[in-house]
Amino acid sequence: MKISKNITRLGTEDAWRVLAEANKLSRVGRKIIHLSLGQPDFESPKRVVDATIKALKQGHHGYVLPNGIIECRKAVSKKIKKLYSVEIDPERIVIMPGGKPTMYYAISLFGEPGAEIIYPDPGFPIYESMISYTGAKPVPLNLLKNKDFSFNPEEVLSLINKNTRLIIFNNPHNPTGGFTERKKIDRLAEGLKKFPNVAILSDEIYGRLIFGKKKMPTFLNYPHLYDRLIILDGWSKTYSMTGWRIGWGIWPEKLVKYVIKFCANNHSCVNAAIQYGAIAALEGPEKELEVMMKNFTIRKNLIVNGLNSLNGIECVEPGGGFYVFPNIKGTGMRGEEFAKKCLYNAGVAIVPGIAFGNLAKNYVRFSFATSSDNINKGLEKISKMLRDI
Ligand code: PLP
Repeated sequence: MKISKNITRLGTEDAWRVLAEANKLSRVGRKIIHLSLGQPDFESPKRVVDATIKALKQGHHGYVLPNGIIECRKAVSKKIKKLYSVEIDPERIVIMPGGKPTMYYAISLFGEPGAEIIYPDPGFPIYESMISYTGAKPVPLNLLKNKDFSFNPEEVLSLINKNTRLIIFNNPHNPTGGFTERKKIDRLAEGLKKFPNVAILSDEIYGRLIFGKKKMPTFLNYPHLYDRLIILDGWSKTYSMTGWRIGWGIWPEKLVKYVIKFCANNHSCVNAAIQYGAIAALEGPEKELEVMMKNFTIRKNLIVNGLNSLNGIECVEPGGGFYVFPNIKGTGMRGEEFAKKCLYNAGVAIVPGIAFGNLAKNYVRFSFATSSDNINKGLEKISKMLRDI
């Protein structure tokens, strides 16, 4: 048996490995506190469940269009108008089984040997994995230079050369919690005018989870980029719907036909009934999101203060999402060793920074998408672990 060489370049998400190891420990009776998972710990809104059951009872059991039912695409377009005051033709919206496939298809569309793709490092690991898989060169954008993990527009522009096909942004950012403000993105969008052949993938999956009164600086604010802008977004994080597997992409008009081909070759279409549930999520009141953000704000403060009170740990306050990315160099350990000790000695599951790129050896990622009680207990256990070594 001979498998394809491309597969050897495919990476993965280390968070799954951490979860598997933690579950193994749980099975032998260890009590593990999970601060590694990238999903809200709230239930999906009841109206979503009800609308999905209703759709099933009404007989929505068959295939639907690969780009999504028109009602769902219209609902996304309407929501975007309400949030960002821009008109997006539903024909440019493609409903996907999660946010991730938009990433996969965008990178596949531009990646090949000889091409270069700029991606955030540290960053969501699938960006680099997919770029390498296509044979393109992954060009890291170092996000550790600014204390708040925001990106510098001038630095992004300096990485572009004649081989650059695509630049990937993620704001608010996983794993750092970094938030890049509109002023910087304005400068970037202006600078990109000089590079009309470079496409942009803006991963805005955490775009509704921003702390304080700040507005999401979406790339949709720049119509002059629309003919090369891909937006990745979805329901997973905003509506606590990670397991439903539904998301959306907004594509340049001329690329939609290729994306539909990807869908036809891969998953055919997204589960019909769930698309009705997803419409209910977008059209309903946002009280669940408000409650979630209130809780996340309390937990953010708890974890940032708690980590900063520990010797050798420096934690910056995140601007959005539900992660913090402390520097743990002062403990004398690298991120991998620290995360291992947290799991095996303290019973706290976290993800080493290196899982998000080679630059983040001295960092680890904590998710605070769990109860305040769990966060307090986790911090106590880590504090004890640090005292004992
Ligand atoms: N983009 C980023 C930055 C993420 O962190 C995630 C999930 O953790 C995704 C995309 C994928 O989202 P989904 O679960 O909807 O596929």
